Amino acid sequence: MYRVYLGLGANLNSPKAQLDNAVMALKKLPNCEFIAVSHYYASKPMGPQDQPDYINAVACIDTTLAPQQLLDLTQAIELEHGRVRKAERWGPRTLDIDLLLFDEQMINTERLTVPHYGLTEREFVVFPLLELAPELILPSGISLQAIANKLPLNNLQQLPL
Ligand code: ATP
Ligand code: CA
Ligand code: CA
Ligand code: CA
Repeated sequence: MYRVYLGLGANLNSPKAQLDNAVMALKKLPNCEFIAVSHYYASKPMGPQDQPDYINAVACIDTTLAPQQLLDLTQAIELEHGRVRKAERWGPRTLDIDLLLFDEQMINTERLTVPHYGLTEREFVVFPLLELAPELILPSGISLQAIANKLPLNNLQQLPL
């Protein structure tokens, strides 16, 4: 079994409901055991500011799937939830699922960079991940807590359950 952390984000069509549905879909994935999901957080958009705020969370699953197989399945979930891929980078979306960490693996293929390249710079990833894995050491050897200690909150708001 591999332990995997997934970053979830949405800012269109009832983003909270999008995340609820994403969690339900993750619970049904084959060869996966759902472990936990963080609180939901409201966050400011990256890139284009002419779009609604985001809701973000981090989910944890255990899986026997290979990383590329899991990416196929999470991209299928995005599409089922109405995601339309547009040219604009970081534009609004109904649902985004990123593979943040895949066990202790470092992956660099055309389709997959793991750990996710934005992990340590994004408050809406680091703080929910810290909730699920306060003792986490990244493959680089740096502790997640050390990264969180230096990262501005940038208006990140933990939402009540
Ligand atoms: P960002 O990657 O900066 O968070 P984004 O999530 O909006 O931006 P997408 O359009 O969802 O980017 O993904 C673009 C491509 O990134 C995907 O087609 C996928 O192949 C690739 N990719 C590379 N590494 C990862 C990863 N760790 N998780 C998910 N997708 C990845
Ligand atoms: Ca825009
Ligand atoms: Ca993303
Ligand atoms: Ca993505």
